[in-house]
Amino acid sequence: MKSPQFDYCILAGGQTLMATLNMRLSEPVLLIDITGLKAMRGIRVQGDRLYIGALTTHTDIESSALVAQHAPLLAQAAPHIAHRAIRNSGTWGGSIAYGDPAAEWPCCLSALDGTVHLQGAKGARKVSATDFFQDLYTTALQPGEIVVGADVPLASTVDWVGFDELARRHGDYAVAGLAVAARFERTLVQRVNLSFLGIGAIPIRARRTEALLAGKTLDAGTIEIAVASLKAELDPLPDLTHHAGTKRHLATVLARRLLQAAHASRSAIAA
Ligand SMILES: Cc1cc2nc3c(=O)[nH]c(=O)nc-3n(C[C@H](O)[C@H](O)[C@H](O)COP(=O)(O)OP(=O)(O)OC[C@H]3O[C@@H](n4cnc5c(N)ncnc54)[C@H](O)[C@@H]3O)c2cc1C
Repeated sequence: MKSPQFDYCILAGGQTLMATLNMRLSEPVLLIDITGLKAMRGIRVQGDRLYIGALTTHTDIESSALVAQHAPLLAQAAPHIAHRAIRNSGTWGGSIAYGDPAAEWPCCLSALDGTVHLQGAKGARKVSATDFFQDLYTTALQPGEIVVGADVPLASTVDWVGFDELARRHGDYAVAGLAVAARFERTLVQRVNLSFLGIGAIPIRARRTEALLAGKTLDAGTIEIAVASLKAELDPLPDLTHHAGTKRHLATVLARRLLQAAHASRSAIAA
């Protein structure tokens, strides 16, 4: 896992780290328990962003009225993360720092153009989600730095968001998943961000298809053009049980479902 590139490990919710310590996949010289840092837990509006502290648990996010109002994509995605016991302990910052390409928070953060807040001995810095996730379990975290939180823009009435994933059993890491964050003028797409999980080494933004949809009216025809574009654009990595073709197919199934839901929602508002 990620931290062992350093000789210490940060312990947050422990839902990933404890398992890897047990299996001796992680053998840090030093284990630093940050769970008592209350200042790193909590959710608040800061200007036009919603800030979530690193030690905020998945359950805190799932049940937050602020998240439901200002970052509904996170509220939709939260129930897909593992099971209740894991969501009660696992943290926002732990998931972001670990950088699992099949995890929900990195995928949503990427869809929402979120920002990761880092703190180290040399000071604080902010890194966009796009730059933070760099490779498989590899992030922009430098030795001596921790994730203190991450923020996303506040949702507005012209935004539409949707999340869906396909897993063998509910609570398992998904085979493929998709977070959509779109902005509309009636049914006209101003922008649509498509972020896939379980497809590549990091959350994958389908930039070519996003550009294709921008400025178009979302209807049945455009949705099929987007699906065809995704088939050409996505180049999934296989995993132990699914080859690339299966993942590509599942990704397009999710895209069609979510774009159809966006179309239905915008058409109802425009009518
Ligand atoms: C059975 C099972 C199923 C799961 N299914 C899913 C799933 O479907 N989707 C999903 O997203 N996750 C899933 N998880 C993972 C879970 O969400 C973890 O909570 C999460 O990945 C890590 O968060 P944590 O707080 O538990 O971190 P920890 O386990 O404490 O730490 C994980 C790693 O991140 C580092 N770290 C932690 N916090 C910070 C920080 N603030 N700054 C810098 N480094 C830090 C640690 O050093 C370690 O390397 C599952 C876990 C289990 C055990």
